Formats: sequence, C-alpha cells, structure tokens
Amino acid sequence: MAGFQINGVSKSYGGTNPTETLKQIDLTIEDGELLSILGPSGCGKSTLLDILAGLQRPTSGEVLFDGKKLEGPDKKRGVVFQDPSLYPWRTVFRNVELGLEIRGAAKAERREAVQRYLDMVGLRGFEHKYPHHLSGGMKQRAGLARALANRPDVLLMDEPFGAVDHLTRLQLQDDLLNIWEAERKTIVFVTHDVSEAVYLGDRVVLLSPRPGRIKSIFPVPHKRP
Ligand code: ADP
Ligand code: ADP
Repeated sequence: MAGFQINGVSKSYGGTNPTETLKQIDLTIEDGELLSILGPSGCGKSTLLDILAGLQRPTSGEVLFDGKKLEGPDKKRGVVFQDPSLYPWRTVFRNVELGLEIRGAAKAERREAVQRYLDMVGLRGFEHKYPHHLSGGMKQRAGLARALANRPDVLLMDEPFGAVDHLTRLQLQDDLLNIWEAERKTIVFVTHDVSEAVYLGDRVVLLSPRPGRIKSIFPVPHKRP
C-alpha cells in the first residue's frame, strides 16, 4: 500500500511577513494511481511535492502515507527532479547504483537492479558512459533509472521532462507510461503543461495560485492498451 491522505495542508514561507503558498489542501492519492498535479508556475506544485516527499513540513495540516504520519524523507518515496543531478565523475552504471551502494546492497544485487532499470529506461549499452556524453533526454532517463533502482513504492516527479526537447519529451512520456504499466507504482507527476498532465494522469489535480488551492480534480478516461 502506498497512498497518501493529505488533510488540510497549508504552507507559508517567510518569518515576519509570511506568504501563503498552499492553502487547505485536502486530497487522497490512491495506491498505484498515476496522478498529475497541474497549475501555472508559482502555484505551489513543487512545494506540495516536497511535502509528499517529506523534504518540507506543512505549516498546518498533516500528510499520512500508508496510513502513518509522514516524518521525513524515506526510501519508499523516490523523487525525480527536472535536473537529474548525475555525478559527472561516475559512469551511468555507477550513478544508478548509488542508492543501492549507500544501503549496502551486495554487488550481485546491485548489478542486477542496475541492468534491469537501465533496460527499462532504454539505456542498455550506456553503462560505461559518463553523463557529459549523454543527451538531456538520456540524462533524465538515467535519473529515472536511479530512482527506480531504489525500488520506491512511490515516484514523485517534479517537471521531470521540462528541460528536454519536444520530441524527446513525448517519447519519455510514453516510456514512463510503459514503466508505470510494468511496475504499477504510485506516481505523482507535477507539470505546468496541460497536455502532459492529461496524457499521463488518470486524474488531474488543478491548482490555482496565490495561495495554491485545489481548483478542480478531474478523472481522465484513457484507452490504455
Ligand atoms: P510551482 O512549483 O508551482 O512553480 P513553488 O512551490 O515552487 O511553485 O512555489 C510557490 C510559491 O512559493 C512561489 O511564490 C515561491 O516564491 C514560494 N516559495 C517556494 N519555495 C520557497 C522558499 N524556500 N522560500 C520562500 N518562498 C518559497
Ligand atoms: P531519447 O532521450 O528519447 O533517447 P535523444 O534525442 O536524447 O532521445 O537521443 C536519441 C537517441 O540518440 C538515443 O536513444 C541514443 O540512441 C542516441 N544518442 C543520443 N546521444 C548519444 C550519445 N551521446 N552517444 C551515443 N548515442 C546517443
């Protein structure tokens, strides 16, 4: 089970003159769901995703994950940002392996997981390349493989395809759908691109800005193969 229950979450930044970024967010995210969070720049999407990741705390309200109150970041919730921040001195293989290495996974387990997820994101054969040899789309694929290799229950994705060219972006969207079909992980996908939100999400949560509130939630009927 890997769902979220968001109860009355508000977030303000700043001390003496705080600005309210999120206001009274109530939302249930189901286990295995692919949910898009859509809204204009500055409406609080990243803040909400960071709160789900446990990287920021709400000013008020609470978030339950798997029925329990969120305490902080946790390997059950993998995060993918727009900038995949690969280590330039590590090969693709060694970048993807990193989380497993930190956890002390045995070499054979690491090798198997890295190969599996590099295959899944379409980077087979690029194991020994360094990040500067990769295109933007391929870097993003490596970042996704690194998140998947940690076997999180949930992927939290913050504009992950925002910095790649249009055709690559469309390809990455299809690849993400294939990964989701194969793995059935809960995915929360943040974007300001309407077609991306609708193309990917089974539900779209639309946020309106200043302060960020849920304006609407709508289901998207999909014909999935
Ligand atoms: P989005 O992801 O939708 O673009 P963000 O969550 O990044 O929105 O930001 C929403 C608002 O919160 C913005 O007005 C931004 O200036 C403010 N904000 C975000 N992070 C911080 C921070 N660390 N300190 C102060 N204000 C912040
Ligand atoms: P995508 O990220 O969707 O694969 P790209 O435009 O990034 O799209 O790359 C398209 C293809 O071009 C890649 O799948 C890969 O086969 C090849 N390619 C891109 N960059 C390199 C590179 N630096 N070295 C070798 N092949 C590359």
